[in-house]
Amino acid sequence: MSAVIMDGKAISKEIQAEIAAEVATFTKQSGITPCLAAVLVGDDPASEVYVRNKHRACERVGIKSQMHKLPASTTEEELLSLIDSLNQASDVHGILIQLPLPSGIDTLRVLDAVNPRKDVDAFHPENVGLISQGRPRFLPCTPHGVQQILDRCGVELSGKHAVIVGRSDIVGKPMSMLLTAKDSTHGPQAANATVTICHSRTRNLAEVCRSADVIIAAVGIANFVTVEMVKPGAVVVDVGINRTDEGLVGDVDFAAVSQIASQITPVPGGVGPLTVTMLMYNTFDAAKLLSS
Ligand code: NAD
Repeated sequence: MSAVIMDGKAISKEIQAEIAAEVATFTKQSGITPCLAAVLVGDDPASEVYVRNKHRACERVGIKSQMHKLPASTTEEELLSLIDSLNQASDVHGILIQLPLPSGIDTLRVLDAVNPRKDVDAFHPENVGLISQGRPRFLPCTPHGVQQILDRCGVELSGKHAVIVGRSDIVGKPMSMLLTAKDSTHGPQAANATVTICHSRTRNLAEVCRSADVIIAAVGIANFVTVEMVKPGAVVVDVGINRTDEGLVGDVDFAAVSQIASQITPVPGGVGPLTVTMLMYNTFDAAKLLSS
């Protein structure tokens, strides 16, 4: 059996077209153009690419974008002062702090300083708390993107065993909240999955993964999920982005696993485009929230 490819690029295009149509109507009726302010500190080349992609996506859906590029020598107080001014700016609806920040800057202190109503990455503790209580303000972009892929590819999650490999605050942990949700406030479908979160201390990882109907890999190690870890017919979502001599690869050994999975996301062209798209979705939501 050869897996059906879950085409994140095409799904992302589809959702961006939906957002663009809604933004156009909103702007026409309210006179407000949603605006995302991106803050980039230092000159990490990968971060520059990510911010540029986000800027282009804003253009495609009719969202304004501001780019605040600060030198690596920026102090924490200077950064906090910029965030304070963006928090106050009535024409800015979403604030994005591109991570990682240079060493010496307290990332949590900076993220905590963002107005939770403009926190379109959903990293602020208030937003994380709302998600965990089942009344999210914003959904975290990458897990929401994964949910969109699964939903639009017709993957039924209710009662299924989903294994998430990775427990980060950005992907693994919030992904578990979305996949266990009992109603559709947490994404396009009420997932109702039974979720296992695995991490670097998990015993018998291969065995746990083999019991999964759906595997979400968010480890950050190239080709970490091998064919021996996947049950034939399982759905495999690869969140990983690893730069190798062979170019960008995911956390899943795509060549082998795609022979036995029923559906699989590629890297690139899988989850990545959705993360950016769901950021657009949240920025539009923030504009609606702040103007209501
Ligand atoms: P992270 O480094 O914060 O977390 C990695 C997780 O993997 C940790 O929880 C750790 O416990 C687990 N892990 C490490 N080694 C392990 C092992 N041997 N066995 C089991 N678990 C192990 O990473 P992250 O921020 O969650 O990102 C994970 C990957 O996803 C990275 O490649 C990152 O670049 C990528 N990513 C992609 C997108 C996207 O839009 N596609 C968004 C965010 C992150």
